[in-house]
Amino acid sequence: MKFPDLHLLHNRVANLLEQNRTALLCVVGIDRMSSLNALYGREVGDVVLESISERLALYASEGLFFRIGQDQFVFLLEKYEEEKLASRLNYIHETISLPVQVASKSIYFTVSIGISVIGIDAKSGDGAVSHAEMALKAVKQEGGKNWQRFTKEMKEAHQRKIHIQQELQTALQRNEFTLNYQPIVTHKGDIATVEALIRWNNELLGFVSPAEFIPVAEESGAIIEIGNWVLGEAAKMTNKLPPSISIAVNVSAKQLLDRQFISHIRTYLAKVPPGRIEIEVTETALMHNPELAAENLRQANYMGITSSIDDFGVGHSNLAYLHQFVVSKIKLDRSFVVNMLHQREARAICRAVASLGAELDLKVVGEGVETVEQAQALMDVGCYTFQGYLFEKPLPEAKLLTAIDKDYSALLKQ
Ligand code: C2E
Ligand code: CA
Ligand code: CA
Repeated sequence: MKFPDLHLLHNRVANLLEQNRTALLCVVGIDRMSSLNALYGREVGDVVLESISERLALYASEGLFFRIGQDQFVFLLEKYEEEKLASRLNYIHETISLPVQVASKSIYFTVSIGISVIGIDAKSGDGAVSHAEMALKAVKQEGGKNWQRFTKEMKEAHQRKIHIQQELQTALQRNEFTLNYQPIVTHKGDIATVEALIRWNNELLGFVSPAEFIPVAEESGAIIEIGNWVLGEAAKMTNKLPPSISIAVNVSAKQLLDRQFISHIRTYLAKVPPGRIEIEVTETALMHNPELAAENLRQANYMGITSSIDDFGVGHSNLAYLHQFVVSKIKLDRSFVVNMLHQREARAICRAVASLGAELDLKVVGEGVETVEQAQALMDVGCYTFQGYLFEKPLPEAKLLTAIDKDYSALLKQ
């Protein structure tokens, strides 16, 4: 199908604005297009795209619809009634999502739509497209298969993200990162491991949580340098801690699946005795590319770096794969620990993970332990190692060094 030139859209938007008229600019995206291509092949993916564009042609005012990017379309809807907008969009969304027939096979897929109202949400063609794209992104973040209109909160979130991304580029040079260390405590009351948790205090943004900036750093690629800095700092810290205490370092998916990962490990952890540093990776990171992840963990293990699965139970894991990864520890996600006292299902999961650990010879750590009742409940199901505010919050280096000889066993008694 031949698409009209995008400048026609800009002309039309300028016309509408001149006449003080409003119109909907809709950006349509196919959810998980790459999985669709991987599953059925690129030719089938192309047929799906073609069918969607034929469907859109039925709705677009004056034939104004365009393909932007690999799997996104823009179309303009000028005739709509404000009060019937939701049902109209539901209808459009539903009809363009209908399965496509390819060689007598039904191909199922889902689509998301982001919308901005020209004249209200945006005052230019570029603005309208970029705001509708923000709305589309918001839909996709919530799982796709839906439509949403642009809001100013989306723009604020977008601007903050850009700001974070810019500041991250120079944060290392400006020495804005530090590491805190949170003890992981055994049922006997001593520290087995400390988890290194990064802290960022930026001159403009102030303190930004890693939960907010790590995903941005992953997306921009800055995580590789930041992650290497964390490895280097953790390596230095091993010299300040007794040999019985290891340091756990979080490694993100991008790092683990980077082609240089093993050479970075070699560079930054060269002088660290075996067993002193372990890496924590999430199930989702492992499942992204299980073969490469397994290979990198195996090579790291060969160099004396053990691995743990972080946030176990909430990611996309596949138990059949578990044995392919050389891991020695599972960290039971905080959500199960929080709920285990009042939710049978959560308790059942904790018990199942603890016995899985016992069967497979993996240590199990309960995360986010805040009360003695939670620690007790974990021991009742067979989990004897804990991390959480009950024992210690993440501590700056100096505070950690005064805590390493502490006996936490009194905290485990009611
Ligand atoms: P995580 O790896 O699951 O780390 C545990 C998080 O839970 C930490 O949040 C910790 O402060 C918090 N926490 C510990 N005990 C408790 C508790 O009893 N109650 C509650 N409510 N929270 C508890 P933090 O430090 O904000 O880190 C958030 C996430 O950011 C980490 O989750 C990890 O995914 C990521 N992160 C932190 N540092 C690094 C890093 O150096 N590299 C990478 N790639 N990711 C990091
Ligand atoms: Ca972790
Ligand atoms: Ca965790």
